[in-house]
Amino acid sequence: MQKIKVFLLTLILFLSFSDLSEAESKKNLVVIDPGHGGIYSGTKGYSGASTGYFEKHANLEVSLKLRDELEKRGYEVMMTRETDRHFASPNSTDLRARMNLANNYVKGRNDHAVFISVHHNATGTPSYRGYETYYFDINQGIDPNYPPDPLQIKYSPESKKAAASIHYGVLSSAPLPEGRGMVPMDFYVTRNAQMPSVLIEVGYMSNPAEEKQIKDPEVQTKVSTGIADGLDEYFDNYDYYEVYDSTNKLLYKDASKENALNWAKSRNNVKVIYNKTNEEIFSNIYYGFAVLHSYHSSFKHYFVSESDAVEFAKKWKNTRVVDNVKREMVWSNYISPNYHIVHARQGVLEEKFDVQSAVERAKRWKNTYVLDVKSGTIVWSNYLAENYEVHHTSKGLLKAFYSEKDAKEYAKLWKNTNVKNKKNGSIVFSNLVSSHSHRFEADEVSAKDRMLTAIEVSKELYPNGFSSNKKQKTVVMATAFEFADALAAGPYAAQLDNAPILLTRSQKMTDQLKNELKRLKANKVIIVGGTYAVSDDVLKELKSMGITVERVSGSDRIETNLKINAKLKNVSKSIVVSSQNFPDALGATPVAVNTNASILLVNTESSLTPSAIDYIQKKDITIVGGTGVVSVKTEDALVQEVGGDRVIRLAGKNRYETLTAVLEHFSDDLHSNTVLVSTSANFPDALTASALSKKYSSPLLLVNDHLHSSLDGYITTYGNENVVERVISVGGVVKKQPLNRIIQLTK
Ligand SMILES: [Zn+2]
Repeated sequence: MQKIKVFLLTLILFLSFSDLSEAESKKNLVVIDPGHGGIYSGTKGYSGASTGYFEKHANLEVSLKLRDELEKRGYEVMMTRETDRHFASPNSTDLRARMNLANNYVKGRNDHAVFISVHHNATGTPSYRGYETYYFDINQGIDPNYPPDPLQIKYSPESKKAAASIHYGVLSSAPLPEGRGMVPMDFYVTRNAQMPSVLIEVGYMSNPAEEKQIKDPEVQTKVSTGIADGLDEYFDNYDYYEVYDSTNKLLYKDASKENALNWAKSRNNVKVIYNKTNEEIFSNIYYGFAVLHSYHSSFKHYFVSESDAVEFAKKWKNTRVVDNVKREMVWSNYISPNYHIVHARQGVLEEKFDVQSAVERAKRWKNTYVLDVKSGTIVWSNYLAENYEVHHTSKGLLKAFYSEKDAKEYAKLWKNTNVKNKKNGSIVFSNLVSSHSHRFEADEVSAKDRMLTAIEVSKELYPNGFSSNKKQKTVVMATAFEFADALAAGPYAAQLDNAPILLTRSQKMTDQLKNELKRLKANKVIIVGGTYAVSDDVLKELKSMGITVERVSGSDRIETNLKINAKLKNVSKSIVVSSQNFPDALGATPVAVNTNASILLVNTESSLTPSAIDYIQKKDITIVGGTGVVSVKTEDALVQEVGGDRVIRLAGKNRYETLTAVLEHFSDDLHSNTVLVSTSANFPDALTASALSKKYSSPLLLVNDHLHSSLDGYITTYGNENVVERVISVGGVVKKQPLNRIIQLTK
């Protein structure tokens, strides 16, 4: 029996709250019920009926003053009566009619409403006097003869709060003594109000002195001001906990945090919001599906279920639905799926946007293959054989293909390859060059310090200086003593017609640096970083050399980074790295310059700045580094902004594993006969080397005393796919052991 009651109560609460809509007024609502009226006069008072002035008149006079005062203060007011009238007969029916009026009016806004019934008192003892406040108190128990409305049971604690505020509001405003104080009582009107409710007895009309006061308009004004003060205080302090579903529909409200949490925790996909601060104190919603627009970056809608997301996405053009958990696109009306799952006899079974999910799906059938529609290549099959092998004269088997056409196209990328049909052993293609002989160089670009090494890199880039027909004769200059500015400048230098990055001291350029600028015939220098990093003295020196100078800087490294990124053109990818931890970031720059990506620096502790959020819109994001350097919070924020299909994290247990993950992920973008090697222990050499990486499209390997074993696999594959003829170590501290190991693996 008890359970059924609780269930019914819950159901009633659910129904009454669920129809609350955003569009409805946010104003607080006060229902004023001037007691009695019409045929019901109320008390005649000490002076008796002959005066023609009854309680119903005083009730209405105070109520009208209260209405005006509350409306002045911005409340919405509902009056059960504004004239001398009654509603029904007998009295019990009259009361029911009043409460129906009141309760129907507040429906859906019960939590923002207070009911106040205004009365004046009388008793047989004329000396009794004073102001009193009545409220329904659930703690007094329920009288079965006078059952309360189920909602009033819930609101009872709020009724008591409202009663207290009004009680002390009136006593501090009106010249009336306190009567019996705050009195718990189950009056019909208070116990049946579906909102916090109060009944006041302004004073005793049976007391001759108080009767005079009650009829005095000035006292009435003070009473109504006091009530309004009390309501102000009540609504200011009224707090509650709201439970919403994933579509922000209000399901439940409670003044008790514990009740709200218990209610929410027994359900799925709900959140609890504290109304005062708008703070989310609990959520078990995971918005796994995002609906994103192809070019309106502010268009972001999140859903718990895929079907809801797709249904919503269909209402617009140029939308896509992203599964943020699997990090893949699941639906789009502007991108066509590039991977077809094809069955040997039944043809195309399904279409997918990315290769991994296509292969995963294709595995569920026999006799299927996955076709890359754009290139026409079969990328996976569980029944076709990879019969066409591409062989290299010195490296042996490079790769096997399902089709002859694909094998030939791949073989043409190489010298000294042929395509063999494994089934019959015939050679179907050959591009052997008999004169080609393998040569190998190990070069060193280094000097005794980082600034001189940067100059050596510049010489390797432009051995004869800038040629007269070079479009931009620009040099990027950064401090030699802080990594962030120079790191972020890498992609910018690459876009400036592959400008060399030179490093300087803050106060003064060295003679070697000035000589290098002259040798290059540079006509413009872009200084990256503030005056603390590169002073205005350096700027003046440059100008005196006849060089145009531009400074790009922000208030800190994060802002400087954003200023640089704002200069980049046609960037659709951004590599996110920590601004405080350089080894992970170093491996990212060569990839960034070769893929026209920007570098976005983030702080490990703090969240993305608003300008960073603006910047990443519509970009593909690669996070480089573990959660210790680029936090999960940042990753979540990125996913929420651009969608899970556009965010990937590349990380390993240490800087070398992270580098391996980066190089393997971008292996298609780095093809070259050259490999760059630098030390991971000292940042500047690797930073300035990014321009060399751009020149040769070559990967940059970071080493310490030894080559970390996690890189072995990548280097071996790289050696198999590229005819490596040159290893350049940048910076003097690269040891012989790692260098020899790299040469051995790439041969
Ligand atoms: Zn009364």
